[in-house]
Amino acid sequence: MSFRFEIHGRDGAARVGRLETPHGAIETPAFMPVGTLGAVKGLTPQELESAGAQVMLANLYHLSLRPGVEAIERLGGLHSFTGWRRPILTDSGGFQVFSLSGHREVDGDGVTFRSHLDGERLRFTPEQVVAAQERLGVDLAMVLDECPPWPIEEAAAERSLERTLEWARRAVAARRRPERTALFGIAQGSVFRRLRERAARELAELPFDGYAIGGVSVGEPEAERRAVVEWTAPALPEARPRYLMGVGTPEDLLHAVASGVDLFDCVLPARNGRHGLLFTRAGVIRIKNAVFRDDPRPLDAECRCPVCARVPRALLHHLVRAGEITGAVYGTLHNLRYFLDFMADLRQAIRSCQLGERARSRAVSSADGNRTESLAAPAPGSAFSGGSGGFRP
Ligand SMILES: [Zn+2]
Repeated sequence: MSFRFEIHGRDGAARVGRLETPHGAIETPAFMPVGTLGAVKGLTPQELESAGAQVMLANLYHLSLRPGVEAIERLGGLHSFTGWRRPILTDSGGFQVFSLSGHREVDGDGVTFRSHLDGERLRFTPEQVVAAQERLGVDLAMVLDECPPWPIEEAAAERSLERTLEWARRAVAARRRPERTALFGIAQGSVFRRLRERAARELAELPFDGYAIGGVSVGEPEAERRAVVEWTAPALPEARPRYLMGVGTPEDLLHAVASGVDLFDCVLPARNGRHGLLFTRAGVIRIKNAVFRDDPRPLDAECRCPVCARVPRALLHHLVRAGEITGAVYGTLHNLRYFLDFMADLRQAIRSCQLGERARSRAVSSADGNRTESLAAPAPGSAFSGGSGGFRP
């Protein structure tokens, strides 16, 4: 079977494992960089591979509008089209469609919406969304779901969930290439425990290859988002991969990994990277700040990304302030590497049953991180204080 998922170790509820797909294996827990239109903004597929990305995310809504599923199919599928040779996961676009409030109409059968590009009327149904992702030849596909807004009344959230569950059943029945494209169900239910548990229970009765927690990061407070993860993850089938959609900060990832989640995607590292908000082992750095103007140190001396290997903070400061495209590329490369290394470290921590320790040291270092900028000026006599002393060879 193409989509074998094996769990190789546990630490509490956290699992370390391996998901096999037709385009290679994914070591889990894994972070999936987001290449909505078929590329992670600013990066080549080779750079993404070198950063350690095992799987890339793309988006069916965006690709359907432009260049269109037929066009990509004619070019041999999404792998040939993008040049990305490792696994690809496509989101169904339910989240994007339901963000088009005022420009979409939901009925029992599907959703009709207007393209955000040219206003053209389009329609998604559960069957068509499965078929389109199978035609793209992606490894991991998502069902069409209804992503309710936050806040929402419980009764409305339940009606919406019932539609999502019905669409999930139709999506399963619509599969034609299960050996080539895995299908994930999506648990909705807003911030209501009863609904989240119902979603997990009813989806578990369907033969999905994996199960996602959707409808988070839609404006709800952090405590509610974390509660949703804590209720839903353990209620999803133990033997299948679990995917938390669209989350989040390293702290969010650590919390969800500890709750038993295996897959993640988020635009945060790339988007922040483009704007000069850079993740380091000593906290988040806003590279535009004047304190970095003459800073000769690498962004993060422990980072092995191509940016930290060569250039000083002063150059990043200069490029990002000048709006130079290379500044955005450098920020993206570094931040993605940070997230991918962070996940590799969590996998190692689970193998050695040290996840709790990682969480405690993380809490300490994020407290330090609040002071990062005031500590950012090189201390006289430190290894980083001048010349190339702080750089890797
Ligand atoms: Zn770096």
